[in-house]
Amino acid sequence: MQLRLYDTLTREKRVFTPLDPANVRMYVCGPTVYDFAHIGNARPVIVFDVLFRMLRHLYGEKHVTYVRNITDVDDKINDRAACDFPGLPLNEAIREVTEQTANQFHADVDALGCLRPTVEPRATDFVLPRADGKADMVTLIKQLIARGHAYEAGGEVLFNVQSMPDYGALSGRKLDEQLAGARVAVDAHKKNPADFVLWKLSSENEPGWESPWGRGRPGWHIECSAMSAAYLGNVFDIHGGGLDLIFPHHENEIAQSRCAHGTAAMANYWMHNGFLEVEGAKMSKSLGNFVTIRELLNDWPGEALRLNMLKTHYRSPIDWTLKSLEENKRAVDSWYDIIGDDTQATGGADEDVLSLLGDDLNTSGAITRLHAIAASRTRYSGQAQIDIKRTLKVSAILLGLLGKTKTEYVKTDPKAVAVNKDVVDALLADRTAARARKDFKESDRIRDELAAMGVVIKDSKEGTTWEIAR
Ligand SMILES: [Zn+2]
Repeated sequence: MQLRLYDTLTREKRVFTPLDPANVRMYVCGPTVYDFAHIGNARPVIVFDVLFRMLRHLYGEKHVTYVRNITDVDDKINDRAACDFPGLPLNEAIREVTEQTANQFHADVDALGCLRPTVEPRATDFVLPRADGKADMVTLIKQLIARGHAYEAGGEVLFNVQSMPDYGALSGRKLDEQLAGARVAVDAHKKNPADFVLWKLSSENEPGWESPWGRGRPGWHIECSAMSAAYLGNVFDIHGGGLDLIFPHHENEIAQSRCAHGTAAMANYWMHNGFLEVEGAKMSKSLGNFVTIRELLNDWPGEALRLNMLKTHYRSPIDWTLKSLEENKRAVDSWYDIIGDDTQATGGADEDVLSLLGDDLNTSGAITRLHAIAASRTRYSGQAQIDIKRTLKVSAILLGLLGKTKTEYVKTDPKAVAVNKDVVDALLADRTAARARKDFKESDRIRDELAAMGVVIKDSKEGTTWEIAR
């Protein structure tokens, strides 16, 4: 089958052809770790996880390298560190904030069913030249200066946008238009108002590294140019991220990487996911509709959140609503009721699901097809019906769904666990009554029903106790 992907740079859907099928290479901009991730942050993580799964399916698990960075140097992190850990030296306080937040992020996206990327480099490990010789930010900046693409001014090293004839190609912004819109004399030290920071000096209260330009810290964009080159080479296959990153972040990544390495491209496919709104409004703390992944996971199983995300094509905007979340939770519940605890994911994925996903990740089409597969099982019986259920499971796993057994799923469903207490107590009372009248068939049936809910019961002389199985 063919994989076709929409490329933001050429503005067309093209057949995906990797530079090297034995090592397909993808880079996605990761989180800045200073606070809980919100549901909008989850969108690129889930979308590119589906692409990662498709690439692994097509080229083999060992033949795909997926790099997603962790931005652990940023002024927002410094502010948070000073605020949360006022007693600690700055470097230790920063480490506390970034470690804690990175761990939270991992727990969140694991619960959303996302595979870990092949490598997750941290920006602070790539500022200075490295013992292993992998690309680093200081060396890249030196190369840009040596090639006439960057200059030192006013305590900064700046990228000279006019040194690159096709700067602005990704976002479609022309330099003259940017100039016309720029406020005059904001940055008098810049040759061009659009020139952006590669390196800036740090005060004593800011994190810093010794460099040829003094003790300072990198600009945001240069870290992705360094870390992608470190693991994927100077030119690689796919670069992804949210629509909001096209300008300035990705535009500037392209400028840095191409000009430092003298290449015609940084990545061959640039992919961007659309925006996410909550209940019809842009998410913001002041509107009170700012939802973290963690808060949602307190109320919903990760798979319901994931299905809710994938119901919309990744390039379209999503309106995240409670109503659609409830619908999608019911869909996941019903699928798990169908596949039950069968752990055998044998047989191939459904051809239609594959070709829909191969068409620029048409996840909504694939989900519609999964519903049709689920409905078709009633036309079969015996082994044929078991096969249909397995096809449903194997196909859904391509979307990162239905990878568990029903019992495991129920355990991750906060609603089921919350409801369980009353239901469990009532079932236990029924079971005690059944045992008293020696109806062991019924008492066993109730025990199985509880087991399916993830509840383990223990009988003893003192009576019956129960717990959620782990
Ligand atoms: Zn980036």
